[in-house]
Amino acid sequence: MSIIRIAIDGPSGAGKSTLAQAAADALGCIYVDTGAIYRTIGLHVWKCGLDPANTEGIVRELPHLQIELHYDNGQQRMVLNGQDVTEEIRLPEVSQYTSSAAAIPAVRAYLLEMQRELAKTHSVVMDGRDIGTVVLPDAEVKIFLTASAQARAQRRMLELERRGTPQPYEKVLREIEERDWRDSHRSAAPLQQAADAVRLDTTALNFQESLDALLKIVQERGKAHEAI
Ligand code: C5P
Repeated sequence: MSIIRIAIDGPSGAGKSTLAQAAADALGCIYVDTGAIYRTIGLHVWKCGLDPANTEGIVRELPHLQIELHYDNGQQRMVLNGQDVTEEIRLPEVSQYTSSAAAIPAVRAYLLEMQRELAKTHSVVMDGRDIGTVVLPDAEVKIFLTASAQARAQRRMLELERRGTPQPYEKVLREIEERDWRDSHRSAAPLQQAADAVRLDTTALNFQESLDALLKIVQERGKAHEAI
């Protein structure tokens, strides 16, 4: 069976990770959460006590990082220098360090091959910000997943509550808007919809409706592809 690559991009909090994981499970692909890979670098920058604006300092750290993806029952786990950091990378503090580090071209170049390698040997559902535009420009299916900033803040707030790190709505919304701005205005691989991506707005959709809509796009786009 040939390999199929499904690229899902979009702003933070649009439900990419949960939907992409469910789609990967339904389609028998592996799920690659590239945000988690960037977050691993963000975590390291935070732990080193580096200023997020210290580009040179961050770039100097790259050779000291050994980042590995492990799969446990189809669930991606992040290992940094031998230590499992899957839970730690979700700490709210890490998000801002991550989007600063992700704006550095050398950081993006450092992670590019790693992401491409994963899609060479496996059928993947890969989500991020620049998968359809930069990482896998030839992906068979490209989806741009979005929702209003308010809907995304609401969902993120519930997720933080579930994780035991609640934050007020206004703060979550402000951080989402700041992150959107940084992710879409940076010069290196900014967040943007690929010309050949299908846009899916989940503002008014619940999880099941979003998943059904996503799988329908995969089916339609991948019709010509024998792997679907
Ligand atoms: O997807 P998630 O919100 O976990 O990603 C965290 C941050 O990593 C994003 O805000 C973005 O700055 C960065 N990122 C990126 N390119 C990707 C995935 C994530 O720049 N492909």
